[in-house]
Amino acid sequence: MTYNKKSVEDIDVSGKKVLVRCDFNVPFKDGVITDTKRIVGALPTIEYLVGHGAAVILCSHMGRPHNVFNAELKLSKKEIKKIDELPENEREAATAAALEKAKGDITKLSLKPVAEKLSELLGKPVQMASDVVGPDAKAKAGALKCGEVLLIENVRFHAEEEKNDPAFAKELASMAEIYVNDAFGTAHRAHASTAGVADYLPAVCGFLIEKEISIMGKALNDPERPFVAILGGAKDSDKIGVINSLIEKVDTLIIGGGMAYTFFRALGNSTGTSICEEDKLDLALELIKKAKDRGVNFLLPVDNIIGREYKEDTTFMRIYSDSIPDGWMGLDIGEKTQELFAKSIEGAGTVVWNGPMGVSEWENFASGTRAVARAVAESGAVSIIGGGDSAAAVEQLGFADKMTHISTGGGASLEFLEGLELPGIACLQDK
Ligand code: ADP
Ligand code: MG
Repeated sequence: MTYNKKSVEDIDVSGKKVLVRCDFNVPFKDGVITDTKRIVGALPTIEYLVGHGAAVILCSHMGRPHNVFNAELKLSKKEIKKIDELPENEREAATAAALEKAKGDITKLSLKPVAEKLSELLGKPVQMASDVVGPDAKAKAGALKCGEVLLIENVRFHAEEEKNDPAFAKELASMAEIYVNDAFGTAHRAHASTAGVADYLPAVCGFLIEKEISIMGKALNDPERPFVAILGGAKDSDKIGVINSLIEKVDTLIIGGGMAYTFFRALGNSTGTSICEEDKLDLALELIKKAKDRGVNFLLPVDNIIGREYKEDTTFMRIYSDSIPDGWMGLDIGEKTQELFAKSIEGAGTVVWNGPMGVSEWENFASGTRAVARAVAESGAVSIIGGGDSAAAVEQLGFADKMTHISTGGGASLEFLEGLELPGIACLQDK
């Protein structure tokens, strides 16, 4: 997928009301924002718009609320099913409690704390609307002057958001004259605020999305070679598509982490109690064959660190083998593998990495991920980290500032690497 999309710099924003979809889905603990990275990431686009005389209306989702601004407060299908399974005399009270909880989301999943933090970071007031497309948002958006900033409430307070309801998208659009998408993390979703609004307004991207698509697009379409892809992590099913598409582009493909054990098993090796997707064995063999046919240097672990149980303090040891004994599970790549992988990364022109090499959250099983992170950092290659857990691992292990680009979207970056169309980007105007 090649995108050549207009950005805020390619459209005249001065004197205009601009609706910006941000990713303000920040983590909270006890009502306090624990990581402001996503808010900080949105600043360049907001500051540009303010500096160029736009009236800036921001929107975002936060968590998974129960659509609290619906005309009728509805419970999710899962919740209804749970209540249906209760004895009849308990259902009424359970329904009332569930509805009460849904209402509680209004405060818990409100974007109000984001407005406060954003105001602090921007060094100017940020108005907060108490609804999304209701009277308060409309009045505040209507009165908003050039250079001013307004944040409307959590778009997922309306069920219509995730359904990409055209009427809701039109309501959102009615408050502005230009739409800017800067939420890469939700760009793989066709929701009202991420894609639907583009049907009603001239639509361009912000700087965050522009950076994501230019760096990852260049890596995929015109990479500095050798091009090395490193894949690991837990969920093969999510990543088979990515491997399949990267095999067509890379010179070297490295597989580590939990994913490696599906390949081990496909090759007839024992895998003990390692995570392994039994229904993906044929696919794994096909991928190995495809890599061979294309002359891709395909690397699997040659030694492993194995544990008794999936537990941080489990008994563990290194085995000089690519077979995992019964009663043990592979939890990290071994030292020989680390050297082998590091050698293949040395001198790379481009590295795309998704998925840790082991259970890197636990120190005993972090050495593989650390060694690979170090090799990537020292390679001098254009390095791109995709995937939420991979980004967290690289950060936790202290290599974040050594990477060229850490994608801000987990699922979105995977779909991008897989070559799928991202609706939140496809809907924007071409240059
Ligand atoms: P990302 O979010 O970067 O796409 P994934 O979600 O696919 O990555 O995988 C990350 C998770 O995989 C981590 O929680 C890590 O502990 C787990 N993991 C890595 N290797 C193993 C393994 N050998 N066995 C079990 N889990 C693993
Ligand atoms: Mg993950």
